[in-house]
Amino acid sequence: MSTAIVRIVSELRSIVAAWRREGLRIAVVPTMGALHEGHLSLVRAALIKADRVIVTLFVNPRQFNNAADLAAYPRTEHDDVAKLATVGAHILYAPNAADIYPQGFATTVSVGGVSEGLCGTFRPGHFDGVATVVTKLLLQSGADLAFFGEKDFQQLHVVRQLVRDLDIPIEIIAGPTVREADGLAMSSRNARLSLAERNRAPRLAEILVQTARQLSSGEPVQRALTDARLAILAAGFSDVEYLELRGDNDLAPIHTLDRPARLLVAAWLGETRLIDNVEVALPRAEALHQAAA
Ligand code: AMP
Repeated sequence: MSTAIVRIVSELRSIVAAWRREGLRIAVVPTMGALHEGHLSLVRAALIKADRVIVTLFVNPRQFNNAADLAAYPRTEHDDVAKLATVGAHILYAPNAADIYPQGFATTVSVGGVSEGLCGTFRPGHFDGVATVVTKLLLQSGADLAFFGEKDFQQLHVVRQLVRDLDIPIEIIAGPTVREADGLAMSSRNARLSLAERNRAPRLAEILVQTARQLSSGEPVQRALTDARLAILAAGFSDVEYLELRGDNDLAPIHTLDRPARLLVAAWLGETRLIDNVEVALPRAEALHQAAA
């Protein structure tokens, strides 16, 4: 099957309108391209739940708080469309920046609460950029379902919040983080790692998993986080921006593991910033207590 490339919103809308007349269910998977298995897993999940799948490809300048990061972001549209055709996506919507942000564009979608802290602290303006473009892409696609990865866990919460607050009629579905065989979370930015860095990178996920296990077996939160931070630095990471335990459902800080939680990290390996997160299961006694309540 081939995947049609669409660049203009009016064209996208007329295709979607025709699908609607046929009563088809439509899904959208927003991406910034340089597609890997993480993205493709979302497309496959979308194809199971919907009759038609639109993948968007837009490297959104507004969500980059660092010009060098934007300039270095991989752009591989030709390969992306080939991968999408293999998986069976119906449309690749790849608009130009001037069409997404035409002259005179003056609106910003700014989500409070869940966008504060974590990446919100270290990437000023990032979530405003994400929220603004995601709002546009969801409205432009007019899809019934939208798929986002847990890899960007805070982003997933930001998107859920804006959809709820703005009454956008779309269901948000999360897909689990897809990892390399050695545990490193797949990311378009992994390609920037040197060979030596690439060999060290999986330690981040290993330390997260190990810390999650320690927390679940009752280790005090603060001690576990301090030890994990030291372990990440000892593994050769140059900086740990944050390493925090947050509520799985609301991203609120957690000091005692008494409800479902997520351990989230952002750390620098040389010039590359990596993020990752893992679920933290409740200690057995807590889980039994919650089940009984
Ligand atoms: P990006 O192209 O990095 O903006 O990501 C587009 C979508 O793919 C987002 O919803 C990401 O959370 C998701 N995604 C990126 N990497 C992964 C991964 N390793 N596993 C699952 N989803 C991912």
